[in-house]
Amino acid sequence: MRHFVIIGSGPAGFYTAEALAKSFGGAARIDIIDKLPVPYGLIRFGVAPDHQSIKAVAKRYDKVADDPQVRFVGNVSVGEAVSVDELRGLYDAVILATGAPHDRALGIPGEDLPGVIGSAAFVGWYNGHPDFADLDPPLDGRHAVVIGNGNVALDVARILSKTRAEFAGSDIVGHAIDALDRSRIEKIAFLGRRGPHQIAMTPKELGELGHLAAAEPCVDPTDFPSLAEDEALDPGLRKSVAHLRAFAALSPTGDKPKAIIFDFFAKPLRIEGEGRAERVIVERTRLDGGRAVGTGETYAMPADLVVSCIGYSSPHIDGVPFDEAGGKYRNDHGQIDDGLYCVGWARRGPSGTIGTNRPDGYEVAEQVAGAMLPGSDGCKSGGEALDALLGQRGVKSTSFAEWRRIEAAETAAARPDSPREKYVRHHDWLKVLGH
Ligand code: NAP
Repeated sequence: MRHFVIIGSGPAGFYTAEALAKSFGGAARIDIIDKLPVPYGLIRFGVAPDHQSIKAVAKRYDKVADDPQVRFVGNVSVGEAVSVDELRGLYDAVILATGAPHDRALGIPGEDLPGVIGSAAFVGWYNGHPDFADLDPPLDGRHAVVIGNGNVALDVARILSKTRAEFAGSDIVGHAIDALDRSRIEKIAFLGRRGPHQIAMTPKELGELGHLAAAEPCVDPTDFPSLAEDEALDPGLRKSVAHLRAFAALSPTGDKPKAIIFDFFAKPLRIEGEGRAERVIVERTRLDGGRAVGTGETYAMPADLVVSCIGYSSPHIDGVPFDEAGGKYRNDHGQIDDGLYCVGWARRGPSGTIGTNRPDGYEVAEQVAGAMLPGSDGCKSGGEALDALLGQRGVKSTSFAEWRRIEAAETAAARPDSPREKYVRHHDWLKVLGH
């Protein structure tokens, strides 16, 4: 028998568990640890609440969790309840599937002012992550600035723009939909340090901005290179740029109360304000070999709320080598050290779709299997020893069956037009379980 532990129950963790279960047949036990009592990581707390079809992938993970070889062990914070070194002593392989939950810093003056929020925090707030339940983002001003031209920036701008009715069918948490309903924000400006050909927004998600009830996307037609240059783009990006060109041809009509403005060639220099964010000082850029270089021309952009959506970083873990520039663990094809691996964003950095994690997980599972003699047994005691250790430390973990009880309670508490009302605090989850 072999014993494996995966740290993190998001997509990367579940795909790796699925791959290990298949690869080892009945000859492995796989524990998936999560610091929260509830599973799914990015699916529950990252994917936008109005993108339920993407969230539905969790049903596939449920099948993995139902495999008798696999066990969900929630409410166990690695680094606090148990260390990675201890886990390495208990399991044949430890696989870090932590994702990248931390915001990368902008590194500009004023980023610590109230009203400047990283996307992990803002997304966590509207998705019901307990760490951000009390974020209370300032929505009392007219101007929001969203820094970055990726899909997370798109999510943030769309969520800031939607009406209450447009959230029907989503599982946006009650505190967020109520606050957004009271929001006075009218102008949402994307700051992209490069141009329309350098966006990291995918076509389906970008196209959604053209169908909002109360907001219209506004693009300056003079920002584009010649139409002929679109031909050289890869097909996905070409489609996204076609959306931008369509927005530019139509906008601005002023027919809708909110505007989503694409400000390209715009690099944030600093954020200013008296005790809170009031404006972003922006420098015009130009492209030089694909890189943004400042032109020296600056201007002030009003900003009552700034959300920086410039990428994420994995958490530092004692004794695990870290690649600061990439925001991930230093690894060779997923291997960090003997018996220590990483998958997903922890391995590659924060890029790719949910589906990218599947081949990634399978590849790392192959690495794990390749490091062991086929059919050989290990001498590690795995989950039994972990349970004993947690018991000694007074840590009460949650099982998948217990998650299902939480899920049933959240479903029962749902608003009429929502699949669930997520509980957003530890004690509410644990109350359902009588812990
Ligand atoms: P991303 O795709 O890497 O985009 C980050 C953006 O931030 C880029 O436009 C980048 O510009 C900009 N940026 C980086 N550093 C900056 C700085 N110092 N100042 C100004 N701008 C800066 O990251 P993301 O949006 O966080 O998304 C992460 C991953 O999740 C991506 O793979 C994304 O596709 C995926 N995702 C997918 C969905 C979906 O499919 N629905 C939803 C959300 C996220 P440069 O290009 O100039 O560096």
